Amino acid sequence: MSVQAISSRLPGRNAPQAIASRFDIEKLRADFPILHEVVNGRPLVYLDNAATSQKPESVIQAMVHYYRHDNANIHRGVHLLSQRATEEYEAGRGKVQAFLGAREAREIIFVRGATEAINMVAQTYGREHIGAGDEVLITTVEHHSNIVPWQILCQEKGATLCVAPINDRGELEIEEFERLLGPRTKMVSIAHVSNALGTINPVKWIVRLAHAMKVPVLVDGAQAVPHQPVDVRDLDCDFYVFSGHKLYGPTGIGALYGKAALLEEMPPYQGGGDMISSVTFEKTIYNKVPHKFEAGTPHIAGVIGLCAAIEYVSGVGIGAIGAHEHELLEYATEKVGELEGVRLVGTAREKAAVLSFVMDGIHPHDIGTILDQAGIAVRTGHHCAQPVMDRFGIPATVRASFGLYNTREEIDALVAGIQKVWEILG
Ligand code: PLP
Repeated sequence: MSVQAISSRLPGRNAPQAIASRFDIEKLRADFPILHEVVNGRPLVYLDNAATSQKPESVIQAMVHYYRHDNANIHRGVHLLSQRATEEYEAGRGKVQAFLGAREAREIIFVRGATEAINMVAQTYGREHIGAGDEVLITTVEHHSNIVPWQILCQEKGATLCVAPINDRGELEIEEFERLLGPRTKMVSIAHVSNALGTINPVKWIVRLAHAMKVPVLVDGAQAVPHQPVDVRDLDCDFYVFSGHKLYGPTGIGALYGKAALLEEMPPYQGGGDMISSVTFEKTIYNKVPHKFEAGTPHIAGVIGLCAAIEYVSGVGIGAIGAHEHELLEYATEKVGELEGVRLVGTAREKAAVLSFVMDGIHPHDIGTILDQAGIAVRTGHHCAQPVMDRFGIPATVRASFGLYNTREEIDALVAGIQKVWEILG
């Protein structure tokens, strides 16, 4: 990664003029072929980025190139294609390391996505360190992927899952979190950014608090990495997870960052090829970190696509992307918030790229269906965060979520679509 690309990831490095001049939205949109699709006779307005983002041509081409020219299995071949594939795959680890600011490349484990990463930590670190009477502390805003793996572990071990509540804005109740963080807490696992509400959690502060009690912290960065610079050394978190497909990369690939000392002492997650250094029927010696955690043939093309995505967002500048999306969020919050019949859900002071709302007497699925007829893709439902819905006493919301290629005109289209919904069903 270039020095310029790295510096653009650092907070405060992007002066507003620099962002404006570098952020040529039409040029960026031209990089994403799918944005030119017509949906139900209308130009696609894609506002479902929190579920998955669209892919630039460079990501698509990187994967096509790999399959056309370099395809081979990695780590075991002496032949040229295998060497090329291995080099690309391992170079990918270095790119993710630089992207997250990790100290060493071996602190990056390739996984299917955030879900697999959290399950891995629960089933390896968690199984070793969490026992009967212990507590795992999460928050109300977690995605099911950051609830159920801990629930499974707690059930198995006789431990308790503790949940720090949120206020009516969707912000973490700090005092309650501090109160729940006690001598029995053995792990804190928290979303960096909530997928249902967009709330940005004060993760650096949480890590400091937890570390003061000698408790490790996993940060679920699935909704953070596409929108803001992340530096795991600055956060000082013990584990950080994300999925490639929300970062303009392919599905089926993501990364787990873990501090080397923790990864070293953790048992493997799955057994199989590549994670061993020798096998006999009597005894298996495991491979070194990170390979100890990468059993079987990995998603090589996925890693290559993920790296192309990281190069792409780093080239645009993650700080510039975040600033652009923040502008969109402010505009959308104002325009959608003043519409008749609409109530915004999640109004945290620190928010990223997500606008959730409900409409009086109209089911979110009906809203989503009418918007779809206008070519507007939003998500409706509980967003894999049912406890958030329960907290607000609603079954579902409509969620518009923004990416680097969205425009004010698309928000105007969303506003017009919502007005139409109100005319028809209000
Ligand atoms: N965590 C958060 C905050 C998410 O938003 C998501 C997906 O929406 C996940 C975890 C799970 O990601 P994946 O399905 O890519 O594993």
